[in-house]
Amino acid sequence: MNINQKRFIFRLSISLLFMLFGIFIFKNFVSFNILYFMFFFASYILAGYDIIFKSFKHILKFKFLDENFLMFIATIGALFLNQFVEAILIFLLYQIGEFFQNIALLKSKKNISSTFSIRPSFVNLKVYDSIKKVDPVTVLVGDVIIIKPGEIVPLDGIVLKGNSYLDCSCVNGESSLLAVSKGDRIFSGVLNVDGTLELKVEKKYENSTVKKILDLIDNVEEKKSKTEQLVRKFAKIYTPIVVFLAFLIFFIPFVFFGCFWKMCLKKSLIFLVMSCPCALVISVPVSFFLAINKAAKNGILFKGSIFLEILSKVKILIFDKTGTLTRGSLTVSKISSNVFSNEKLLEIVALAESKINHPIAKSIVKAYAKEVNLNRIVDVKEVFGKGVKALIDGQEVLVGNSKFMEEAGFNTFFEDEIGTYIHVIFKGEYVGFVVLKDEIKLDAVNVVLNLKNNGVKKVIMLTGDKKNVGEFVAKKLSIDAAFCELLPFEKVNMIEQLKKEEKEEKIAFVGDGVNDAASLKMADVGFVMGNLGADAAVEAADVVLMDDDVEKVNFSIKISKKVMKTIKQNIVFSLLCKGIIFVFGVFGFFDAGFAVFSDALVSFLAIFNAFKAFKD
Ligand code: ADP
Ligand code: MG
Repeated sequence: MNINQKRFIFRLSISLLFMLFGIFIFKNFVSFNILYFMFFFASYILAGYDIIFKSFKHILKFKFLDENFLMFIATIGALFLNQFVEAILIFLLYQIGEFFQNIALLKSKKNISSTFSIRPSFVNLKVYDSIKKVDPVTVLVGDVIIIKPGEIVPLDGIVLKGNSYLDCSCVNGESSLLAVSKGDRIFSGVLNVDGTLELKVEKKYENSTVKKILDLIDNVEEKKSKTEQLVRKFAKIYTPIVVFLAFLIFFIPFVFFGCFWKMCLKKSLIFLVMSCPCALVISVPVSFFLAINKAAKNGILFKGSIFLEILSKVKILIFDKTGTLTRGSLTVSKISSNVFSNEKLLEIVALAESKINHPIAKSIVKAYAKEVNLNRIVDVKEVFGKGVKALIDGQEVLVGNSKFMEEAGFNTFFEDEIGTYIHVIFKGEYVGFVVLKDEIKLDAVNVVLNLKNNGVKKVIMLTGDKKNVGEFVAKKLSIDAAFCELLPFEKVNMIEQLKKEEKEEKIAFVGDGVNDAASLKMADVGFVMGNLGADAAVEAADVVLMDDDVEKVNFSIKISKKVMKTIKQNIVFSLLCKGIIFVFGVFGFFDAGFAVFSDALVSFLAIFNAFKAFKD
C-alpha cells in the first residue's frame, strides 16, 4: 500500500471514529447537542470534503450535473432532516468503493508492467577489449554491446557475432523461441536465452523498441480520462432526471395532496440517496482496466479504453496485404536480364534496397545474402507504393513496380506470372526484373471466417501490389472485396470514402506499419502489428499488436465485446436494484440508511462481475 492509500484509510477511520463518538453522545447525552453536532460535522467534512469541493468547482463551471453534485445534495437533504449518520455514510461508502476501485486499477497496472518487465537497467558496452556496464541512455548508434544469456536485449541492433535463441514472450505472449545469428536485426525488450551475442546498436535508447513499448504502457494510464467520459456522459442524462424526479416527489404530494412537507421531503431525500450512481461510476473504469490488462497479457496494447468501446462496434475490417495477411518475407522465384548476369542484377537491386525498411527490400537483401558495401550507395529515395531510386557507384538506378517503370517511360506488359515484379532501370535503360513470391500467413487462413463469427460484416483488403497477386490472396482467404495497385494515399482515400458511405458502421484498419500510418489514423480503430520498428505507425495506431499474429485482431474484438457486455450488465443490474429499492422506499419499507448500504452492495457485486469476466 502506498502513502496516499494509507493517508486515505487514516482519514476515513478518523471520520468513522468521529461518527461513532457522535452516535454515542447522541444516544446517551442528548442534551449535549452542540458536542455531538460538532463530532458529526467533523466526520461529515472529513469523509466528503473532496466531493463537496469538486461539486462546488463544477457548479462554478456550470457543469454541476455529475455524480459528485448528486451525492452532495443527497447529503444536504439528509443533514436537513437531522439524519447525520446517513449523510456521513453516503460519503464514507462511496469513498470505500472508490478505494477498492483504485486498488483494482493499481493491480492491473502492476500486472501490465510485470508482463512487460523489460526495462533495461544497464548495457554491457564493449570498449576495445573490455566490457563496461553503462546506462542504456548513454549508448550511441554504432556502439557495440554484449548481451549475455539471461539478459534482456537493451537496445535495437544487428548481430555481429554469436548465435542464440530469443524469448519474445515478455513482449508478445508467444512462447516459441526465435533463433538468431550473425546479420539478424533484433529488437530490444526480448530475452536472450541461450548464447552470448555481440550487437551493433542501430538506435539510441529513446528511439528503441523497448522505450516505445514502455511509453505505450504509461499512456494507458493517461488515457484513463477517456473512460471517465463514458461515465460523465451517463451522468449528464441521469443526474437531471433524478433531480427532476426528486423535485416531483416532493412537490406533487405536498401541493396536490396536502401532505406534510417534512414527510414529502423525506421521501424525496430517500429517492435522491438511492439514486447515487456509485456502482456505475466505480464499475465502468474497473471493467475497462481489467480488459486492457487481459489484452496486454496477450501481447495486445490498447492505447485507451475508448478504443475498446469503438472496437466492440466495428462492422468493417480493412487489411493491408503485405506483411499483414502475407508473411512479408518474400522469396525470389525468378530473375531475368538480357544485359547482366542474374547474380549482378540481384546485386544491383539489393544495393538499392539495402537502406529501405519495406518487406520487399528486406527480402531482397536477405536473398542476396552477401555483405552490402553501403559506401557504394548514395541518394536513396523511397517512392512509397512504387519503388526506390538510388545512385549506385555513381549510376542512377530505379527499382520498382510497373507504375514506376511507366513513369520512367518503359512498358512492362509482359508480367504474366502471379508474383511481385521488381523491375530495374540502370543508367536510363531497362535491364531486367526479379519476381518475388509471398506466402499467406498460417494464422490468416481462418481469420475471415472467425471475424464473421465475431460479428464483423465485411472484410476488405487494400494493397499496393499487382491485381493478380492481390486477387489471388483475397480469393484464398475468402475476403469480400480486394482493391489493388493503390498508392498509400489512395488507401487513405478509400478508407475515408468507406467511412462516408457507411456512416453508421465503425471501421478498423490493420496494417504492418510500413507506409500506412495515415490509414491507421483515418480508420476508427487502427491496428499495427509486428513492426515495432516503425515509429510513425506505432504512434498513429490505436491498438498495437506485439507480434504479427492476425488472429489477435479477432481476440481484441472478443475482449472489446466482453467488456461492453459486462458494463451493460452492470448498468442494467444496478438500475434494476435501484428501481426495486425505490418502490419499497416509496411504500416506506426502507429508509435512507438502507438505501446507502444497498448501493454499496450493488457496487461490490458490479466490481465482482467485472473480475469474473476477465479472470484468467
Ligand atoms: P502493400 O499494400 O502490399 O503493403 P506497398 O504499398 O507497401 O504494398 O507497396 C506497393 C507496391 O509497390 C509493391 O507491391 C511493390 O511493387 C512496390 N514497392 C514498394 N516498395 C518497394 C521497394 N522498396 N522496392 C521495390 N518495389 C517496391
Ligand atoms: Mg504494407
